[in-house]
Amino acid sequence: MHVCPVCRRGDRTTRLRTYWRTLSPEARAGAPHLARPALDEERWAAPFGLLTVGCALLVSEVWLGFVGLAGGGLWLVSLRGSVTQAARQRADWRRQLFCLRCRHVFLP
Ligand SMILES: [Zn+2]
Repeated sequence: MHVCPVCRRGDRTTRLRTYWRTLSPEARAGAPHLARPALDEERWAAPFGLLTVGCALLVSEVWLGFVGLAGGGLWLVSLRGSVTQAARQRADWRRQLFCLRCRHVFLP
């Protein structure tokens, strides 16, 4: 049993993800800080679109294809860091515990 660092009790701690699953949609909307961190998958659409357009232009032998490929590639590389950070935040979220007594979120 894990002891809450705030109220020093361990009798009412549960996994945050378990607690999150029991919440109603209204309660979830009222506690966005407890939600699982999002992955922002829609952010990948724009650089992949640029890469696709670059490939299409390259096939039709337009020099702009090189610009599209280079731009899309650089964009994807710049997103890599934030994706790694989001994955780390989600891993932490899965490990986090929740104190039902004082509503404190903590890592074991
Ligand atoms: Zn507590």
